[in-house]
Order: sequence, then structure tokens, then C-alpha cells
Amino acid sequence: MSDIAILGAGPAGLAAARLLHLRGIDCAVYERDADRHARTQGGSLDLGTESGLRTITACGLAEQFERYARPQGQHTNYFDRHGTLLLATDAEDDDEARPEIDRLELRSMLLDSLPAGTVRWGCEVADVSRIGDRWRIALSDGEHVDADLVIGADGINSRTRRLVTDVVPAYTGVTLIAGVIAEPRPDSYAASLVGEGAGLAFAADQAFLLQRNGDGSIQVYYTQRRAEDPRRAVGTVLHDPAFIRAELDRELADWSPRMRGVLDEVEAPFVWWPLYVMPARQTWREHSGVTLVGDAAHVMPPYSGQGVNMGLLDALELDGALSEHPDVDAAVAAYEKSMLARMEPMIGATTAYENLVLNPDGPQALLDLAQTGGR
Ligand SMILES: Cc1cc2nc3c(=O)[nH]c(=O)nc-3n(C[C@H](O)[C@H](O)[C@H](O)COP(=O)(O)OP(=O)(O)OC[C@H]3O[C@@H](n4cnc5c(N)ncnc54)[C@H](O)[C@@H]3O)c2cc1C
Repeated sequence: MSDIAILGAGPAGLAAARLLHLRGIDCAVYERDADRHARTQGGSLDLGTESGLRTITACGLAEQFERYARPQGQHTNYFDRHGTLLLATDAEDDDEARPEIDRLELRSMLLDSLPAGTVRWGCEVADVSRIGDRWRIALSDGEHVDADLVIGADGINSRTRRLVTDVVPAYTGVTLIAGVIAEPRPDSYAASLVGEGAGLAFAADQAFLLQRNGDGSIQVYYTQRRAEDPRRAVGTVLHDPAFIRAELDRELADWSPRMRGVLDEVEAPFVWWPLYVMPARQTWREHSGVTLVGDAAHVMPPYSGQGVNMGLLDALELDGALSEHPDVDAAVAAYEKSMLARMEPMIGATTAYENLVLNPDGPQALLDLAQTGGR
């Protein structure tokens, strides 16, 4: 196969590179981060048997995954805003076992499985344009590279997406504010809420989501319906802790002091995560030599824990199609047909789930669902 450029070294792009490599096909991955340590990778992810785990196995990384995975991460406690326990569920209550892995470990595992030099760090893609029958990838430092097949794995603000659709992700009306309790005291209130898994607390249209990471730290998300704030894009680091604490204290005024006190344990700066979604039903225009995987294709709210899983499955299905069809465009068309059909109900379900997590009537509908093993 001719030159393949993957744009973005997130889980979807790296899995695509790994699968191609296993079939003896070289590619280059262009990533804007300066190196693998350039930013924290966030909390833990759970992988589904038929999606994320299937891909990791196809990548030949099942053993490494076992080493890092934590089945106990699936225990979840549900509370009201006063800290009263409403429900506790375990993995056995679910239809599907979904072991957890820290995002950092997942990325490292995939990175380490690639030949040295595959990922070109510090390469921010500024533009992708047609030059004859090839693609020219312009980098923000003024350099460029050319490729025959471009796989856009460049996440929510993809520069590749406009080659297949003019639709951009829409704000869902919900924002997460994320922080980390790096070294929680074993006897702290936050530790008692999460145990070794997750603790979720709810009020009308508000929720606290706490999650234990593999290194013992606790990821804290406060989530609320609010207007989009044009000053704060996805991933904005909130450097003024006093200001944001005052804002959160005001919003959480009718939560119990113990619940509000969880915020006092967060040492790292908070990060602003407005949530965006692509339409469930997408029709892409005709295109040649380019496709999208992961969030670039179908970003959606994180509540049902499917973003990474679907990105990994995209990589697997794209690789499968490329190995089956001698013609690259036929392979891409087969992959996209299946991927877009798969994502339509999933985006719909995730949006419905978001409406249960952030519900004007509080958590009852979500508890009913959790009690029957749904999520
Ligand atoms: C707060 C939060 C919690 C989440 N929790 C979960 C969860 O529990 N389970 C789950 O399955 N999913 C979760 N998700 C979703 C999940 O993180 C994403 O679906 C997943 O990371 C998508 O992988 P990706 O490889 O498509 O994109 P990304 O992980 O976004 O990777 C894209 C890569 O492209 C690079 N890039 C972007 N633009 C450029 C450019 N112009 N040039 C070069 N490189 C570029 C980025 O630096 C990045 O490395 C969560 C998301 C959020 C926001």
C-alpha cells in the first residue's frame, strides 16, 4: 500500500497504526503533543469485550492489558446530594464485564507497540488539501508531508473532518469541570464515596462523578447544564482556584458541606470540559483517499463510556476492510458504511443517558436503569 498518514496519536490513531504494522504496512502518525508526557491523559476508561478489548486483542496486546487492567473498578456507589447511599452496583450486575485501564497506560501500551519513529511528535496539522491525486498535510511549523491515504484520528476539533462533511460537533448544553485528588487519604470522604470504583452523586441537573484511578488517585468531575462559555474551550485549564471554587460553592450551595468539601481535596487545577456531540445520523459526501476514526468521526458525551471503545473498534474495522478490499476507496466506503450505522443508535443512546445523569427530577430514572444492569 502507498503512503499512509494518521493524524493524531490518541487511542484510535495508535490502534490503527498498530494494526497496519502487524500486517507489515508502514505508516506515519502526526501528533501535535511535543512528546508522550506533554499532558496528563485524564482518568480511567473501561473497555468493552466486543469493542475496545477485541481491538486490543487484535493488536496483540491482551497480555499487557491484563497487567494494567482493574476489574474492581466496576463497583459503583450512587448517592444523593447529602451523601446518602442510594444504590451500590458491582460488575456482576452488568451484562458485560468491562475492566478499567488508566488512559495513560492504554496510550503507553499502544505507543510501545509501534516501531520507533512511527509517531512524529510536535507535528500539529494545520491543513489537509488535495494536490493532484495525493493529500498534502500542512504542519503548523510551515513544513508539509504528502500521503495517499489520510486517516483523521485528530479528535473533537479534527482538521480532517471537513474533507468528508461540513457538520461540526454541537454543544450538548452540559459542561464537566474536572480535577484530580492526587493522593487521597484512605480515611477521606472522597475515598469513602468511591471505594475502589466510582461514586456518583446527584441533584437536579447536577452531578458529581468520582472515579478511582490505577495509581490510587481519584478523578473528580462536577457536571452541570450551563450555557456555552466562549472564553473557555475544551480542556481550558482554570488557573484561578479561588475564582472557580467560589463559582462551584455558589452552584453547590444546597449540597451537604461534606459533599462540597470533596472539592477541597482537589489539588490540581480544574479543567473545563464542555461536551459536544456529532449528529447521530451522518451522511458524508463522496471522498477519496481519506477517512475518520474515533472522536473526529463521532464525538459524543462520555457518560456511557463508549468513546474510546468506539474509536478502537473503528481502527479494527478500518484495518479489516483495508485487508479485505484491494481497492482503498472500496475499503474505506465499506468501513464508513458499517461505522456510521453502528454509531447512529449509540449516539442516540448516549444522549438519552446524559439526560438521565443530568435530570431535572434528580437520579431516580438513572437508579432504575442501574438496578437493571443498564448504563
Ligand atoms: C472528561 C472525559 C471523560 C471521558 N471518559 C471516557 C470513558 O470513561 N470511557 C470512554 O470510552 N471514553 C471516555 N471519554 C471519551 C474518550 O476520551 C474519547 O472518545 C477518546 O479519547 C477518543 O479517542 P481518539 O483517539 O479518537 O481522540 P483523542 O483521544 O482526542 O486523540 C486525538 C489526538 O489527536 C491529536 N490532535 C488533535 N488535533 C491535532 C492536530 N491538528 N494535529 C496533530 N495532532 C492533533 C491530539 O493531541 C490527540 O493526541 C471521555 C472524554 C472526556 C472529555
